[in-house]
Amino acid sequence: MTSSCGDDFEVIILGGGMSGLALAAALGSVGRSVLVVERVPIDRLLAAPHDGRVTAVAQGSMRFLHTIGAWAGIAASAEPILDIVVREGFSPIEIHYDHRAVGSGPLGYIVENRAIRAALATRVGALPSVVMEAPGEVEALEPGPARVCIQLSNGRRARAPLLALCEGRQSATRKRLGIGVREWRYGQTGIVCTLAHQREHQGVAVERFFPDGPFARLPMTGDRSSIVWALDDRLSGAVLALDDSSFLGEVAERFGDDLGALELAGPRWHYPLSLVLADKYAVERVALVGDAARGIHPIAGQGWNLALRDVAALAETVCDRLRLGLDPGDGIALERYAAWRRFDGAALVAVTDGINRLFANDAFPLRLARQAGLAAVERIAPLKRFFMQHAMGLVGDLPRAMRGQPL
Ligand SMILES: Cc1cc2nc3c(=O)[nH]c(=O)nc-3n(C[C@H](O)[C@H](O)[C@H](O)COP(=O)(O)OP(=O)(O)OC[C@H]3O[C@@H](n4cnc5c(N)ncnc54)[C@H](O)[C@@H]3O)c2cc1C
Repeated sequence: MTSSCGDDFEVIILGGGMSGLALAAALGSVGRSVLVVERVPIDRLLAAPHDGRVTAVAQGSMRFLHTIGAWAGIAASAEPILDIVVREGFSPIEIHYDHRAVGSGPLGYIVENRAIRAALATRVGALPSVVMEAPGEVEALEPGPARVCIQLSNGRRARAPLLALCEGRQSATRKRLGIGVREWRYGQTGIVCTLAHQREHQGVAVERFFPDGPFARLPMTGDRSSIVWALDDRLSGAVLALDDSSFLGEVAERFGDDLGALELAGPRWHYPLSLVLADKYAVERVALVGDAARGIHPIAGQGWNLALRDVAALAETVCDRLRLGLDPGDGIALERYAAWRRFDGAALVAVTDGINRLFANDAFPLRLARQAGLAAVERIAPLKRFFMQHAMGLVGDLPRAMRGQPL
């Protein structure tokens, strides 16, 4: 493959999931030439049965999506989150995050993944400098001192000074490149479904911690909510095997009755929950992005928000280097990217893992300590504001596109 390496691009992106498409949209929106290789055919990727999840899109992420020209296609499907209530089961002790405490806008938005994917794919499709190969599969890959060369199974060859690996948690290319991972299962399955309800949710998201796992209800457009129920594996198989009415009964018990009668408004989905941490954010001419770099527990709804901060940081690094006529994928560029992303990634791994462990233990002293903790946070307004601003993706060393500035 070394003799002739085919078409030249500035960046090759492997994986056209929500992170890969967002990176392509970001780079393409400023005219950078990009090849995206996604193994699933594009029409299947966008079809309803592909993914039944919703994503809590933080304010900072929304700003980024706006900057790269994708938010206009998402906005109509986005339900603003006005309040978040966190409780241990049905205990009356709660933390109540109210959007008015941190400004006039919502805390974030709930959007169906398929709406995000469709908007990103439409945006990418409209950008003349982005080429999409979906389906596409890399057959050979050769990182070299100046370029990474790839050959696809359809025979196409391409090269670029930077390869962005956006293949998700089980990235095969990460393995092929010899990048190790630390991985452990939580012993929980994320059960996801959409419910229609009688009364309006008023933009309130609720997270309830039960001993068998956390249960989130997330406000969607229309009188609908999505649930994410991270249920202990010893129970999840039996719950998933229930008929619709018994399943709805189990869900309703945790959902509460404040929104009136509930109805299933779509199929059930389930995802094994694990933590996956790559040993490195970058190797020669290759940057790891999104779940390929680390996949976290969905307990705080932060996985893709974290991934988008990778995307924004990498896009900014690439654009700055190319504007100065510098190599976008050399050691200096990759070290800047890796150093930028290391702390944010490690912090969220620790927080999401810690919360899940803390609430999974039903020992009486721990339960008391948790309730005291919730009550304390509720009373300390600055601490509450600090948590809210973090969850909204508005603090830290943010890439400029997340602060509403151009790339
Ligand atoms: C139940 C659940 C709820 C969640 N809720 C939230 C939330 O509310 N907020 C939030 O921010 N995050 C949430 N997340 C996390 C979020 O879904 C992930 O962080 C996000 O989907 C990661 O996107 P990605 O593009 O990095 O990876 P993926 O979604 O895994 O996409 C990887 C893509 O690469 C492709 N691919 C893989 N291998 C190859 C290959 N060899 N060649 C070509 N293509 C390849 C795949 O087909 C896929 O399209 C949740 C996760 C779960 C499980």
